[in-house]
Amino acid sequence: MEKRINKKIIKIYLPLIIIFALIIIISLLFISCEKDEPRLTQYDMDLMFDDEKFMLEGKEVVKYYNNSDNAFKILYFHLYPNAFREGAKNPVISQTHEKEGYPNGKSYGGIKINGVKSGDEEIEFNVEGEDENILAVSLKDELFPGENVEIGIDFSIQLPNINHRFGYGENTINCGNFYPIVCVYEENVGFSKSLYHSNGDPFYSEVANYNVNIEFDSKFEIASTGDLISSENSENLIKNQYKASNVRDFCFVLSQKFNFVQEEVDDIVVSYYGYNNDENLNECLKTSVDAIKTFNDMIGKYPYKQISVVKSNFVYGGMEFPNLVLISDKIEEQSEFNYVIVHEIAHQWWYGVVGDDEYNHAWIDEGLAEYSTLLFYEENGSYNEKYPQLISAATKSYKLFEDVYKKINGKVDGRMDRPLCDFATEPEYTQCTYTKSVLMFDSVRELIGKNKFEKAMQKIYKDYKFKIINRAQLTAVFEKFGTGAEKVIDSYLEGKVIIM
Ligand SMILES: [Zn+2]
Repeated sequence: MEKRINKKIIKIYLPLIIIFALIIIISLLFISCEKDEPRLTQYDMDLMFDDEKFMLEGKEVVKYYNNSDNAFKILYFHLYPNAFREGAKNPVISQTHEKEGYPNGKSYGGIKINGVKSGDEEIEFNVEGEDENILAVSLKDELFPGENVEIGIDFSIQLPNINHRFGYGENTINCGNFYPIVCVYEENVGFSKSLYHSNGDPFYSEVANYNVNIEFDSKFEIASTGDLISSENSENLIKNQYKASNVRDFCFVLSQKFNFVQEEVDDIVVSYYGYNNDENLNECLKTSVDAIKTFNDMIGKYPYKQISVVKSNFVYGGMEFPNLVLISDKIEEQSEFNYVIVHEIAHQWWYGVVGDDEYNHAWIDEGLAEYSTLLFYEENGSYNEKYPQLISAATKSYKLFEDVYKKINGKVDGRMDRPLCDFATEPEYTQCTYTKSVLMFDSVRELIGKNKFEKAMQKIYKDYKFKIINRAQLTAVFEKFGTGAEKVIDSYLEGKVIIM
């Protein structure tokens, strides 16, 4: 009888137990998936460009997911345009380049936050930081791990007359690093709120998804991050909609002088934007196409549908943004133009897809991009730039820097892994970050061999795709492919290697 009852109970309850167990297993799987795949921030932006005042009126709705293990009461955004305002503490251009940067004398810009909302409700915010560089938004409710919040921000941006990533010049209007972008949150560190600096690219961001509407006068052509979804033209006003997934930033450039050419390679549309009457459009396009193809084969496939290489008034050589790179129109030699195109395109792999903290560890993306440029020339003999000669030129350049600085200061600080603000001068930053990185990666390749070096690059690209890599993680991959690589990298980074 007892047995019978037990059997009956089992008959009734067994299906329920199985269903219950399945629910638990599925929920656990779901939770673990959620944990592995962080949800990306979504930026929805409406922008209107006023070409009389050189102003951008904008609204953005940012849907932010808390992927961390901590709860937040305040969410922080970078306000990079405020580095360009009158009275800013840090100059945006080094003294050496100031004249070229401001061809019509000093000019200022900035961003004004008109209001911040959560849903329909206005919420408290504060513009803070050492240089008014941070927007702190007080959340209505504490944001717990796994939760998300939608923040609406209304802003007005004044562009300065400056040949920079953010600013207008004689030929182009460069809208880079213009909108409030969420600061990266690091466990045990907090939100990264680094200041702007004239050295390098003082930026650090995570990949996100974008849906951006831009309105501008139809006298302009536009180059932009993302895929063009729709374009309307009415009463001399163009309204374009762009979508971009898994990108670290959003940038666009306007010009009345653009003349562009396009070619498709490996299902990627490569566009080169030069100016009217330029005679080197096709040559620049060819270099861009060759670079995309070479890095696709060497490192891993470029994961977007398009890229624009854009000539612009820009005080330095070039600048990388997702799907878009700026190349300075100040460059005269075609060979130098090609070099900058290749370097900036290499950044699509190093910075764009594999991200890093560019403010604190600039050598990661600059070093890999610069070294990849040398590898491009090694693969593409028709450009007549020989790898060994490029290495000996880098060695000479670094030694010259050491000699000059020893004479002036009595010593040289050759440490590579330090924040942008810790480099005393622009040459110190350039030599330690670009030149020395090239020598460092060359030494690593000497040690582990060409084949393993490329495999290590491919592994980094695959494992850190759309993520952020740090020094220890990068070093560990090279060490995995060749014992001793870590030691070589560390000695270079700490400034202990004697360059001969
Ligand atoms: Zn670079």
